[in-house]
Amino acid sequence: MSIADNLLKYKKELEGENVELIAVSKFNEAAAVLEAYHAGQRIFGENIVQELVEKQEALPKDIEWHLIGHLQTNKVKYIAPFIKLIQSVDSVKLLAEINKQAAKNDRIIDCLLQVYIADEDTKFGLDHAETIELLRSEEYLAMKNIRITGLMGIATNNAPEKQTKDEFQELKVLFDGIKTSFFRKEDSFKELSMGMSGDYKLAIEEGSTMVRIGSSIFGVRKIKHYKA
Ligand SMILES: *Cc1c(COP(=O)(O)O)cnc(C)c1O
Repeated sequence: MSIADNLLKYKKELEGENVELIAVSKFNEAAAVLEAYHAGQRIFGENIVQELVEKQEALPKDIEWHLIGHLQTNKVKYIAPFIKLIQSVDSVKLLAEINKQAAKNDRIIDCLLQVYIADEDTKFGLDHAETIELLRSEEYLAMKNIRITGLMGIATNNAPEKQTKDEFQELKVLFDGIKTSFFRKEDSFKELSMGMSGDYKLAIEEGSTMVRIGSSIFGVRKIKHYKA
């Protein structure tokens, strides 16, 4: 199936659900992104700043770019002028830099806090206590140029279905608790980004509002020369 066919399949499947499709175009050429764009897709996710910046420059300006990969503080400045949502905030230090660069660009940048839910050592993210600590910190409370609009999580790769379900449930419970405790009056705190090609159905059952789908739209990833 073509990229356009794959996208249409997802669009149909997600119709009527309160779930946004993020097409993860990392390691795919700009031409593939354009094909998806012409099939109607406008929201794309990338992992690596250099790749994201090159595509943003080359492609139509009404694309909404999300960063979903680990972000180093010294690279925030390259994406601050245009990024729509940074899904991978995992420290108050990073958030402070995003706030600073957003101010320089006279913007407010939307962010998700990435919470660690997987049973793996290698995944980035905050644990529950760190998430709460960040939201209570004086430093965060003083930031005027960022807005936290939800949480993001990555489940353990290839885990049994029950485990994946439990990990998504854990994130949803945390999301609901944080909504009640910190964002009760803020309608903008509403995104729960969870679910990828292999587990998006489970994620939606457990309350996801954003699924990040890459390989089952674009096929096997082609570019390998970027470094994180
Ligand atoms: C690569 C990636 C995805 C997409 O994964 P697929 O399995 O190709 O759908 C989603 N989220 C994050 C954070 C990723 O790095």
